Amino acid sequence: SGKWAVAEAILRELEEKCATPTAKLRRVADAMMVEMHAGLAIEGGSKLKMLISYVDNLPTGVMVKVFEVLNEKGLFYALDLGGTNFRVMRVQLGGKDNAIKQEFDEVSIPPQLMTSSCNELFDFIAEALAKFVATEGDDFHLPPGRQRELGFTFSFPVRQLSLASGTLINWTKGFLIEDAIGLDVVGELTKAMERVGLDMRVTALVNDTVGTLAGGRYSNADVVAAVILGTGTNAAYVERAHAIPKWQGLLPKSGEMVINMEWGNFRSSHLPLTVYDYTLDAESLNPGDQIFEKLISGMYLGEIVRIVLCTMAEKASFFGDTIPPKLSIPFILRTPDMSAMHHDTSPDLKVVGRKLKDILEVPNSCLTMRKIVVAICDIVATRGARLSAAGIVGILTKLERDAPKEGEKQQRSVIALDGGLFEHYTKFRECMKATLDELLGEVSNSVVIEHSNDGSGIGAALLAASHSQYL
Ligand code: ADP
Ligand code: MG
Repeated sequence: SGKWAVAEAILRELEEKCATPTAKLRRVADAMMVEMHAGLAIEGGSKLKMLISYVDNLPTGVMVKVFEVLNEKGLFYALDLGGTNFRVMRVQLGGKDNAIKQEFDEVSIPPQLMTSSCNELFDFIAEALAKFVATEGDDFHLPPGRQRELGFTFSFPVRQLSLASGTLINWTKGFLIEDAIGLDVVGELTKAMERVGLDMRVTALVNDTVGTLAGGRYSNADVVAAVILGTGTNAAYVERAHAIPKWQGLLPKSGEMVINMEWGNFRSSHLPLTVYDYTLDAESLNPGDQIFEKLISGMYLGEIVRIVLCTMAEKASFFGDTIPPKLSIPFILRTPDMSAMHHDTSPDLKVVGRKLKDILEVPNSCLTMRKIVVAICDIVATRGARLSAAGIVGILTKLERDAPKEGEKQQRSVIALDGGLFEHYTKFRECMKATLDELLGEVSNSVVIEHSNDGSGIGAALLAASHSQYL
């Protein structure tokens, strides 16, 4: 009937506008590389902040052996404030064969806290941490007379003043707490810990990408970059210190510096933006910012699908004569639900039918409707996955690891990947990997994507350890 023809037309146009042919992805990768240069050249030189992490030495197994020899092995805490979850962990370093014993606890962040006040947020964090510390068992050892030390993973843009301090530049994802902007987040956490009577010192403040890079490098010396695909998206990589013109300080001994790209804020005329993306951006907490993130990450993919469905409902009476009221609620269609629909293999798309009923209160959906919903999910996820692959190629290009070098054996490049989207959205992950192979050609044999499960927590604890006040 006519209604399906209109829906099909909207779908075809979506597909066309979201298309990411190889040539376009190469332009995106090149633009990423160009912006990396610009962001490293001068402060504010690019939408890519290319933040200096003050991590100029990544922990290795050898280093942890040294702690042991010096009898510096011990207990360290890590805290990870992401986009949706908040996690606390403790690790015991210096075990046999560099084994790391760990325990953790995870709580979801109450949504009202994300737009509350600085004190409310940090009090919540400090209270959760204090509760966790109270459960420390006898199998974890804090040497007598020592203060507990913490690596703080904070997944928002921070201008670091040192490894253990930094001011919040802006919020991203679902957070907007105005009074925290410009404050030293370590100072705020420390004050909150004092308020709840917790004696602990923050010895490292790291972005989750930097933590993942540190954790990844610890278990694999070929790790050169880390990418997060979770609620948001971001990347960090190891840069040669002399390739950072804006760095005013002394060149680190290692000659290297980890850069937190804040790639979520990347923007380029080559990005395939649609009218749906403009709507999403305009209605977001941070219009005009984080455009790359809004095309790729878990917070937004389901929302893009919802916005497309809104247009279909209005223009093609996709759900019948009335528009389902639930459909107009922002973020009601979450990326995990989108993923479940996208992976539905049942002949009558049962899962899609159930999700439409449970989430949007569409009681009866025919197979044609369900197929179109799956097609929308596929277009939106494919675009995001292919753009993430292009971003990784941009980093490899910057590192001159994207093409074989004449007369040299190709070096292995391992990218540590983490985040709920990468971990759970199988089609997204597989499409991203396939696209990387497509873009890299023969070099793809020496580029490895490694899932670094919770590497950021371990990485933050390792960085806290290597900057311990007792070393
Ligand atoms: P954060 O990014 O908040 O630190 P995670 O790395 O755990 O936390 O990522 C959580 C995000 O991963 C969720 O917001 C969601 O978008 C995405 N996600 C979680 N589970 C799934 C799933 N099954 N399918 C697709 N995306 C998922
Ligand atoms: Mg995270």
